[in-house]
Amino acid sequence: MIRPVHRLPLAQSAALPRLEEAETSVQNRRFRAHFPDGAIVEAVLYRGDTLCLSTQVGCAVGCPFCASGARGLSRPLRGGELRGQVEAVRAAGHAPTKLTLSGIGEPLHVADAASFFAWARGEGLKVSLTTSGGPLSRLRAWLHRPHNGLTVSVHAGSEALRARLVPRAPALEPLFATLAEELPRLSARRRKKTALAYLLLRDASDAAEELDAFAARARPLGLPVHLYAHNPVPGAAHEGVSRAAYEEAYARLRARGLVVRMSSTARREANGGCGTLVPAGPGLSARRRALPRAP
Ligand code: SF4
Repeated sequence: MIRPVHRLPLAQSAALPRLEEAETSVQNRRFRAHFPDGAIVEAVLYRGDTLCLSTQVGCAVGCPFCASGARGLSRPLRGGELRGQVEAVRAAGHAPTKLTLSGIGEPLHVADAASFFAWARGEGLKVSLTTSGGPLSRLRAWLHRPHNGLTVSVHAGSEALRARLVPRAPALEPLFATLAEELPRLSARRRKKTALAYLLLRDASDAAEELDAFAARARPLGLPVHLYAHNPVPGAAHEGVSRAAYEEAYARLRARGLVVRMSSTARREANGGCGTLVPAGPGLSARRRALPRAP
C-alpha cells in the first residue's frame, strides 16, 4: 500500500525512513533505511563526505557478482524516498557534501532520479551516478544533463562475458556506439565527468583477452576507466582477484593507452565494495535466483 506522502512532488515531501547503522569500518558507515511498506535499502557514507544512495529495492539487471539484484526487483524508490535517505543521514548528525546514485538498483530505471538530481543540486550537493547503461535512450539523455559524474559499468571486453556479467543491460556494440555518438556532442567539462568502470573478477574479467578487448573498445572514446576491486559477496558466482593480479591488470590497461584510476582505500573496505549492498522487502524472491555461470 503506497502512502499518499509518496505521491507528493519531490519538493514537498521527503519520505523519511527509519535509519539503522549497520556496519562501520575505518572510513565508511553503512546504513540500513527502513521504509513504512517494509522495503529496506542500504546507503554508505564514504569518508564522512560522500553518501552512496540506493535507487531501487533490488535490481532487475541481475549481475551475478552483486548482492543487490540477487533476489530480483521489488520496486523503484520514489523521489521522496531518495531524498529521505539523505535527510535521515543528516538527521543522524552527518553532513555529506556529495551524493552518488551507485547503491542498490539501476538509476536509469528510476523515473524520479532526474527530479532528485534537481533537488540535490538545489541543496548545493554534488551528485553523480553509476549505470549499467540502459535503456540507451535514457543514457543519451543523462549524458547531457548536469551531473558531477556519470560512470558506465562495462566489466567485460567480449559480448559473451558482458551478457554473463551484466545480463539485462545493453550489449557492448550498441553501448559503445551510443557513447561514440554522444561524447563529441558534450562540452569538454561534461566529457571530463564521464567515465567507464571495469570490475576485476577472477577467471572472468581478469583474463588477458577480456582486458585487451575492453581496451580496444574503450581507447577511441578517450574516457578514464575506474578499475574496481570486488569485495566478497556471500553466494555470488564470482570472486575478486588478488592485489598482485589487480596491479597487473592496471598496468596492462595503462600499457594499452587507457587512463586508469584505482579503487580508493575506502572502496576496498569490507562495507565499501561494489555489489555488497543488500535490499529486503515485499516482492523480492525468497531465494537467490539462478545465476549465469561460466560455460
Ligand atoms: S551491479 Fe548494479 S546493475 Fe548490477 S545487479 Fe548490482 S545494483 Fe544492479
